[in-house]
Amino acid sequence: MESNLIESPFFSILKEYLKENKLRCTPERFKILNMIYSIEGSFDIDTLLKYMEEKKFRVSRATIYNTITLLINANLVTHHIFGNKSRYEKSLNNEKSHLICTKCARVTEITTPNLRETITSDIKKFHLTHYSLYIYGVCSKCHQAARRRRQRKK
Ligand SMILES: [Zn+2]
Repeated sequence: MESNLIESPFFSILKEYLKENKLRCTPERFKILNMIYSIEGSFDIDTLLKYMEEKKFRVSRATIYNTITLLINANLVTHHIFGNKSRYEKSLNNEKSHLICTKCARVTEITTPNLRETITSDIKKFHLTHYSLYIYGVCSKCHQAARRRRQRKK
């Protein structure tokens, strides 16, 4: 394994979590974690599988699901449910928020770097590790479509 990977904070968190829960330190778990942390934004299982295959790292869907569950429990991965679809995302140092259209369920990821300061300024006696923000509304496409429909009715 690459030496810079071993020094990564997410790597040591997983190592610690596996040790605490008496779970095995398999190379698959670390490779999947490393792949997840190289992905910007949210992804689904199929996309993760595709990326793993591109890196010539064959892993079963069952292993991916099991590892993702483990990483969620270790607070290294966030599970999102957008509409009826599951998506996953790295949680460490991830300052992304999600704009969700209530009409077409389209999800747009936005970076909100100043949000952490805003949140922490009001939080007392609580150590924040990560956060996830969902902002609901209507996307510009759906908004325009609704306006066109209203105009036709006139
Ligand atoms: Zn929409």
